[in-house]
Amino acid sequence: MGKKKETFCCECKCALVKDHIALSKKLLGRNITQFYCITCLAKFLECEVGDLEIKIMEFKEQGCALFL
Ligand SMILES: [Zn+2]
Repeated sequence: MGKKKETFCCECKCALVKDHIALSKKLLGRNITQFYCITCLAKFLECEVGDLEIKIMEFKEQGCALFL
């Protein structure tokens, strides 16, 4: 069993799911090295978590490669 590489939110240190890493890259730039969970990203961008969830769905529908 290989050790699973986990990525953590740079703010609250919670473990991130793939979609949230992809969302950070999509909204903050592909070259970022620190990622936010959806809650901290919403705070950072001063929007609602629900808005970001909608964005994730939209990016998936668009077939964005980051979300595959
Ligand atoms: Zn966080």
